[in-house]
Amino acid sequence: MSQLSNLPTIKDVFDHINDKYPNWIFCSSKSFSSDYDYLNKNWDMTLNSHRDKGIEIEKQKIILVSGFNKDDYLSFAEVLTRVGFIVRSVDDFQLCSECGLALPTISYYNKMKINNMKIPHFWLSRCSNC
Ligand SMILES: [Zn+2]
Repeated sequence: MSQLSNLPTIKDVFDHINDKYPNWIFCSSKSFSSDYDYLNKNWDMTLNSHRDKGIEIEKQKIILVSGFNKDDYLSFAEVLTRVGFIVRSVDDFQLCSECGLALPTISYYNKMKINNMKIPHFWLSRCSNC
């Protein structure tokens, strides 16, 4: 963990992760689908709250990974989150086949529904406007 935090650039962090666990990171996306815009807003709010404390964090990408069943994976996710990424499991998110933006999987959609999140009435594997 401390070793990972000391790596000089984001690229070094990714090189370290890909060397150690080449199958952990599946894919990435620049944002969530506009159908789930509150997730983009939450992301912006998190970055803004850091900015208010004087910590400038650049918005990076959403990274979909195979899961979090290793301590190392949790450490990687923490380091990446700290520098502006969102790290989610492929069990919870997938990419729109048309535009490549991130959307919840049907199982995660159903969890969101139970929690009364602001989500579309029906689950789709792509954005409603794609
Ligand atoms: Zn789309």
